[in-house]
Amino acid sequence: MFVTLLFFLMNQPRTIGIMGAMDVEIILLKEAMQVSHEDTIANRIFTKATINEINTICVKAGIGKVNAAMTAELLIREYNVDAIIFTGVAGGINPDLRIGDIIISERVLHHDLGKITPQDFQVWDTLGYVADSTLIYLARQATERVIFDSLPRVLTDETYLPEVVTGIIATGDQFIASEKKRVWIEKTLKADCVEMEGAAVAQVCVTYGVPFVIIRSLSDLANESADVDFEAFVDYAARNSSRIVQEILRLLQE
Ligand code: SAH
Repeated sequence: MFVTLLFFLMNQPRTIGIMGAMDVEIILLKEAMQVSHEDTIANRIFTKATINEINTICVKAGIGKVNAAMTAELLIREYNVDAIIFTGVAGGINPDLRIGDIIISERVLHHDLGKITPQDFQVWDTLGYVADSTLIYLARQATERVIFDSLPRVLTDETYLPEVVTGIIATGDQFIASEKKRVWIEKTLKADCVEMEGAAVAQVCVTYGVPFVIIRSLSDLANESADVDFEAFVDYAARNSSRIVQEILRLLQE
């Protein structure tokens, strides 16, 4: 592990691509950046900036797999990034997790890619894409140093601080707001959370041999309350996730 870490850190100069799907997911990072340049390509604003003396390209991809894939590819082909970190929110699938908890991707898979028969839907690739072990390690280290916001007052337990798990992220072009579907994703894929971009980013990164990690904080539990919870907790969850990225960039600089 330390040999990989050393190798990663010695690979200078390096540029880290940072992606989110929505403004709220990258706003804190953008505020902390020293911006040197901005380009617009394919309606996306690519912000070239340093944070903690690390070169980054920060971009809002938009929601969904196509937006995520094309943005990841642009980061790789136009900006030659050495790694991609995706930061954002997700719906909880693992019933042990609560709103606010954090998932660092160990693997990421497409839950909506497969075969429909008269009886059922069969996911084609239940293994998915494996995230970079050094980035996972750095993300875990970062979570131990971040001072997280506690949950907003809307929930009864306002002193609750996030749990962090390294786990499986399921991706599809669907906002999941159904307990039945949540259970299906849990049982079929053993996923910890569901979102709409991660596997697309992962697939592009694996194809190009670029290390990646997806960091997600739960804004909702993918059930019938997901719409209302999402609105209530998206800002809080997105902030905590982006704090982890900020800390990773600090760790890289040390
Ligand atoms: N009502 C919102 C919906 C955004 S889609 C709007 O119109 O802006 C949800 C975003 O958060 C996606 O980028 C996805 O990656 C993530 N997400 C959060 N909860 C999710 C869930 N339950 N199912 C799928 N994606 C979810």
